[in-house]
Amino acid sequence: MPTKPFPEWDGQPYYPISRFYKNHFGEKVYKITVSAAQTCPNRARNKGVGCIFCDELGSAGSHLIKHMPLKSQITVNRERLARRFRVNTFLVYFQPFTNTFRQLEQFKADVELALEQERVVGIAFGTRPDCLPDEIFPYLKETGEQAFVSAELGIQSFSDNQLQFLNRGHSADDSIKAIKRLHEDSGINIGIHLIFGLPDESDEEIIETAEIVNNLPVDNVKLHNLHVLANTPLHDLYRKNEFEPLNLDEYARRVVLFLSRLSPEVAVQRLAAVAPRWDELIAPDWTKERLRPTQMIVRQMNQTGHYQGIHFQNAE
Ligand code: SF4
Repeated sequence: MPTKPFPEWDGQPYYPISRFYKNHFGEKVYKITVSAAQTCPNRARNKGVGCIFCDELGSAGSHLIKHMPLKSQITVNRERLARRFRVNTFLVYFQPFTNTFRQLEQFKADVELALEQERVVGIAFGTRPDCLPDEIFPYLKETGEQAFVSAELGIQSFSDNQLQFLNRGHSADDSIKAIKRLHEDSGINIGIHLIFGLPDESDEEIIETAEIVNNLPVDNVKLHNLHVLANTPLHDLYRKNEFEPLNLDEYARRVVLFLSRLSPEVAVQRLAAVAPRWDELIAPDWTKERLRPTQMIVRQMNQTGHYQGIHFQNAE
């Protein structure tokens, strides 16, 4: 049996991204979330219709102040986080929509502006696996040699059937190729977003997802439960009783299953989605809660003696 790695993970049964940041930067680091991109390839090619779970804000958080210029978004959010969490060092996170789905020069200008700001040590940007043009790789490589740069790829699933259900507009193979190329041609940090609670999702599918991640150069994962927001295609399915979100117990069980197979080298950004705009959340209600889902997952892990990688290490 491997030794429980809890002390290195600040007492958590999984490798939290906060620990990765402390190891990498030598101190606490928080992400300043900003909005710069306006749309994504999925919406652009489908006349405004995107992934079935995504609302018109493109997966943005409520704290975004998107009407402000980028510099003001950074300043306002930085001061708010600094006051609230007593933190001095930040990454600027370009969150909504597809940040590489625009002129490279515009993307570069936003990144440069972010990196010029006080107490900003790097950036992260959300994008899709099918939206990484050839010319972006040399730029990411060069920038990643000077500052911390992380891509956050919306992968969601490695099953082509599930990707079709989600109307993602890309394949699992696109995702695998994008992750490998980002690693080989840019060397930047790579995070991926995954969704659990998909229709007919089996335990085998979840285990296979962990195994695929373990075999790719993925640095961190962000986990979400598939939840229903108002005025999305998923809302229509929910109204017709064709989709039912998971209850918290079952979601926690699936996350524990995934984490138990996930390499302990892969940091975890988040264990469950939190709906920032309660008025838009249709179901499940527990997606409103910031703390309880994570607490439930941790409790299940502790009660059952599970921790991240327990079965990954056993399999070795
Ligand atoms: S999740 Fe991303 S790719 Fe999908 S519709 Fe929303 S912004 Fe576009």
